Amino acid sequence: MFLNSIPEISKALESIMPPECGLSKAEFEGPDVAIYLKNIRAFYEDENLIRKIAGTLRKRVIIRSDPSSLMTPEEALAKIKEIVPPEAGMTEIRFSPEFCEVWIESLKPGLVIGKGGSTLKQIILITKWAPKILRTPTMPSDTIKGIRAAGLKEADKRKKFLSALGKKISTPVVKSDWVKVTALGGFKEVGRSCLLVQTPNNKILIDCGINPETSEGTRAYPYLNAMNLALDELDAVIVTHAHLDHCGFIPYLFAYGFDGPVYCTPPTRDLMALLQFDYLDVLAKGNANPPYQEKHIRQELSHVVAREYDEVTDISPEIKLTFHNAGHILGSSMVHLHIGEGLHNLVYTGDIKYGYTKLFEPANTSFPRIETLFMESTYGARGDIMPSRQDTDRMLMERIHQTIQNKGRVLIPVFSVGRSQEIMLVLEEYALTHGDTFECPVYIDGMILEASAIHTAYPEYLKPAVQRRILSNRSPFESKIFEVVKGDRKAIAEGDPAVILAPSGMLSGGPSIEYLRMMAEDPKNLLVFAGYQSSLSMGRRIQRGQKEIPTTGPDGRLASLKVNMNVTTVEGFSGHSDRNQLINFAKNIKPTPERIFTMHGDEAKCDDLANGISRITRCESRALMNLDAIRLK
Ligand SMILES: [Zn+2]
Repeated sequence: MFLNSIPEISKALESIMPPECGLSKAEFEGPDVAIYLKNIRAFYEDENLIRKIAGTLRKRVIIRSDPSSLMTPEEALAKIKEIVPPEAGMTEIRFSPEFCEVWIESLKPGLVIGKGGSTLKQIILITKWAPKILRTPTMPSDTIKGIRAAGLKEADKRKKFLSALGKKISTPVVKSDWVKVTALGGFKEVGRSCLLVQTPNNKILIDCGINPETSEGTRAYPYLNAMNLALDELDAVIVTHAHLDHCGFIPYLFAYGFDGPVYCTPPTRDLMALLQFDYLDVLAKGNANPPYQEKHIRQELSHVVAREYDEVTDISPEIKLTFHNAGHILGSSMVHLHIGEGLHNLVYTGDIKYGYTKLFEPANTSFPRIETLFMESTYGARGDIMPSRQDTDRMLMERIHQTIQNKGRVLIPVFSVGRSQEIMLVLEEYALTHGDTFECPVYIDGMILEASAIHTAYPEYLKPAVQRRILSNRSPFESKIFEVVKGDRKAIAEGDPAVILAPSGMLSGGPSIEYLRMMAEDPKNLLVFAGYQSSLSMGRRIQRGQKEIPTTGPDGRLASLKVNMNVTTVEGFSGHSDRNQLINFAKNIKPTPERIFTMHGDEAKCDDLANGISRITRCESRALMNLDAIRLK
């Protein structure tokens, strides 16, 4: 039996729970149910009760005390400080009366939780406040601070939103008998990723990005208008990861009538906020027209329903969502949708790395069921084979070493999220093992520092080796080889030998282009391309050998800059899979899909990958185009 309403849920709870628990109310909280009790101690006396309840409701259940039984915040604060050992490094204890929760931020959440949750249990039994445990990043992060503060400040609004959402998710519908998808962006191209999934009952977007390499409206944003899609009719948006080509357009939806949930992992929420606020900043500096304002980003953040990998969540009466590790950047995920009771299962990969990196485990290949797979093709052409990571790391360090010895400086334009952290780990490891011969500073500019700080708040998303280092206060991102650029870029660009990591990754703006202007003419310097360069970008033009770049001179007039510095491309650091990895992913994915649609790649690459997959896996495969609509069931 599916329990669809609060009265039904309350009735079921009354029949399972001993009356002494004092059930005061049950409430929807998005996909979850929150249960409020007058006597929480009685509840914890029966260890099997929580399992019984979750089994009956078939939802995630949150247990809280009735407001009448709460200790005053002052008393509770003192008690919590008594209960939690000082080694836990609590940095902030704040109360959310709307949810009867106490938010405890600490450097070692494991010690706040205690063995088998024993410390947590003590907190709730004594203070009656339900503890919500958050990790304090080892490096300060304004983004995380801001998001947490806003979460507390807007608790009242958030509560109303979650309750209405929960009701909608639980209201029964007439069973769907068809599923249709429409490609709205990122098909036969890289940028503005967006897929509309439709049933008779629901309209859901997976990703909603921009193309950061162009400002032309017709190429920069997904085809929402072409569909006559009323944004207030959308039921949900699901985000695979925080890169702007996957999430940069979501605040626009809020600016024009969307008011529903945004599902993503917790690190995706934080990185997404960082990159979207920066996007507006960059547009403002370039006097370009922004498609939305800061308040729409804040609106989006207050509508995020964060979910971890492998958690199955009802996002409508008949659609279940599960995120799976994609191996691409922090928090990146593949989206699995189970639609109807067994009607259809689809997986949308977003960007995937099915290979070795220092930061993340390779993309997951095992799913409960899957009929249709949408798969990225960034490096999908036959020639797109990357060297091994070992060779890549060696090549990079050889080139850097040479340049430093010749008294040059190295500029590596990087995405602030993803490649920066991967390359920081390579440089840090090299410095550790070659300390006596490698003694140059590595400058970190732009948002790389803030993005790295966010990584330290989510060590469980990183590989065990990196995780261990962060947990034991030896975070590689805080190594002494890294120096944060605070002031004079010119002094660094023209100073002693050094390595400079700076966004943007495709030299389309940000500090990297500033450094390029100051470094390009000196033949002793080196420019290293370590990530994807889109066909429209400045990076691609220089990579292809363009020796003069248009620039604005000191008098404001158009001038040109000679590229005399060495230019090299180090393939293999990519957070994307190369051709072999993509084919292996398609071969290894379990169970075998009935059909595979390729996307997220230049036209030839999407076609080439689809051909390869059809030939090698004998699975029907082809590349979709933007505005293609397909009935899946
Ligand atoms: Zn990406």
